[in-house]
Amino acid sequence: MEFSSELQGVIGIFPLQVDQRLLLAPKWLKNIYFLNSPDRKAVKPVRPMADSSATGNPERSMSEIDPQSDHLTINSLVTKIVLMAFVGSFASALLVSWTSLKPIQETLAQSIEERYPEAARRAAESASAWLSAGHEELLRLTSAPWDGARESALAGLLHESRYFEGLALCDSRSAAFDRVGSASICPPASDGSLTEGEWIPIRLSNGVVVPATSVSVSGEGESRVFVVAVFDRKQLALLLAEHAPHPDGAMFLTTGAGNVLAGAGHETPKQIEAPNAGDEEDGSVRESTDFPLRHTLGATHPLGESDWFVAFEVPFGVAYSSLLVSIRRVLLIDLLTILVLSLVAYRITSAVLKPIESLSAGAHRVAEGQFDLEIPDSGNLDEIGLLIRAFNRMLQRVRAYQDEIKTSNAMLRTHNVKLQQANELLEQLSITDGLTKLHNHRFFQDQLTREIRRAGRASTPLSLLLIDIDDFKSLNDRFGHAAGDELLHGLALLMNASVRSSDLLARYGGEEFAVLVPGTDQGGAYQLAEKLRTVIAESSFILDDSRRLTRVTVSVGVARFKGNRKKFFDEADRALYRAKAAGKNCVMTEESNDIE
Ligand code: GH3
Ligand code: MG
Ligand code: MG
Repeated sequence: MEFSSELQGVIGIFPLQVDQRLLLAPKWLKNIYFLNSPDRKAVKPVRPMADSSATGNPERSMSEIDPQSDHLTINSLVTKIVLMAFVGSFASALLVSWTSLKPIQETLAQSIEERYPEAARRAAESASAWLSAGHEELLRLTSAPWDGARESALAGLLHESRYFEGLALCDSRSAAFDRVGSASICPPASDGSLTEGEWIPIRLSNGVVVPATSVSVSGEGESRVFVVAVFDRKQLALLLAEHAPHPDGAMFLTTGAGNVLAGAGHETPKQIEAPNAGDEEDGSVRESTDFPLRHTLGATHPLGESDWFVAFEVPFGVAYSSLLVSIRRVLLIDLLTILVLSLVAYRITSAVLKPIESLSAGAHRVAEGQFDLEIPDSGNLDEIGLLIRAFNRMLQRVRAYQDEIKTSNAMLRTHNVKLQQANELLEQLSITDGLTKLHNHRFFQDQLTREIRRAGRASTPLSLLLIDIDDFKSLNDRFGHAAGDELLHGLALLMNASVRSSDLLARYGGEEFAVLVPGTDQGGAYQLAEKLRTVIAESSFILDDSRRLTRVTVSVGVARFKGNRKKFFDEADRALYRAKAAGKNCVMTEESNDIE
């Protein structure tokens, strides 16, 4: 007998049942919906935080990371841990169940092996004795001489008998002369001729084969007359039932051809497969499978020396009912345990992983450059709680740094503007004479270079005036240097008002001025020089606190650019020298000797 096939049959359905239950569970259905969801978007931005004072910036608004918005995926840790818990509890439940059920099955199988063949043996012995006693009784009853009619004699015999339900008087070819009881339908013998015997099977005209015995009462050879007695099948069935090891099994008597002669129990078959004694080990349990209609366990035992058998049969499910009940109970407990463990694993991992998912989503947003967020802190003192608080502190620090950087940038911009203004001022100062506010010598030289180039390119005239104050030293001596400075400033204003904007007036040194006159030939330059000299000579200056009017004159040298910068200056310088030599307060060109 194979126990494992039944167990595997039950367990083979088990994973399917578990799957169905998982699918039907509302919580799991929700998860599976998420698992199949193609949308793997991690976080949605949510409400601004009410209190942002911790960041030191009341304008700042932050969003909280919502772990619920993160969908589960088939690869999520929750799925893996729940699967692990499911597989682990399933495997252990299976192992524990198998180890606990296996001894029960072995004990039950051993009990069946011992009890069933023994019961069949005892029933066979008991039936054999009863049938023999019946034959003896028939011999005794038929040995006495018959009185009266044969039919009434048969009825008398049947009345006296304790073993039979019917009698018939037949010839050797089973042709009945008379019959009483259930044998009133005379049996034609299966093989054609009747013989005297303890136990013979006879077939009634309705097709039922019954146990019988026969006794020869008269005649010789072909003309012999037999009394055929059909055994009382009810009595026989009760006798067999006494030895049945299981109340729901069937104990019955069968011929060697498998015709059931009598039996107890509603599961008693009409015909069985011929029990072949050679196939079975004596006293072993036989299993017959006519799946799915009949799957039975049973044992047979021969009836004395005949080819008849006593057989016991019980459905497999009935024989192993206690084991099957245990299996169902254990599997139900297993299933409930697995479900509870999986649910607990899901709840625990969800609770543990929720803050981790928040952290992951938060880190993702930080990687995208968003710092205005905060991970919800449940206040747990575990590692994840510490991590969340450290993460939030890190974000606060980053936001504080951002604010500092913004302030610093604003300050830098202001400083840059001031620096630019200072640079412009410096630039202006570097080309300006501090006393007269005219362009200084350096700027004049730079500008002269440009004008020389331009004059060369455009072939336009370029003239130069060198102006030197006459007897300035003595004026200094008379009025003091401060008065001299004042006069220098006043002359600068006067001359600046007299030149065109295209002319470049500069303080060339001490009490000397230069005027660069682009686009003007020597005649025009001379006129300008004369104009300046005249304006100055005709002006009066108040140089000290005495409020006395002072006059001052200048000498001017004029030169025209002829292609050489040095000669340009030398010629103006020489003309100035000649103007001084000529008595001052006059204008001299390189060629002229004009004295004013
Ligand atoms: P001349 O008519 O020959 O030019 O005689 P001068 O005295 O003007 O020439 P000189 O070269 O002998 O003297 C120039 C004087 O100019 C000497 C110096 O004290 C004076 N001077 C030069 N620069 C300044 C200045 O910035 N302020 C004042 N107050 N005096 C200056
Ligand atoms: Mg001078
Ligand atoms: Mg001078």
